[in-house]
Amino acid sequence: MMDAVVGSCEETQEQLSDRLEGDLRGLRRLRVAAHLSRCDRCRAVMRSLSRTVEQVRLLAQADFFPPPGPSVTDDVVERIRRERR
Ligand SMILES: [Zn+2]
Repeated sequence: MMDAVVGSCEETQEQLSDRLEGDLRGLRRLRVAAHLSRCDRCRAVMRSLSRTVEQVRLLAQADFFPPPGPSVTDDVVERIRRERR
């Protein structure tokens, strides 16, 4: 009877990535949350998944704001030299 509410490990782990993306709603979200509250194994899986998702997000942000490359820096240095003459 509790299984109907809590769900299986297999089902929960399949839905963990959806949960981390914020796509899991309503009853499915409650089932995953209820399962995680009583299952150490799935909590461990979720922790490693959330670390992975966090790293992917950081990488995506780094790509979105690229640091100035050497060519940009050279350009600025060259301009400053010209202005000093
Ligand atoms: Zn489990």
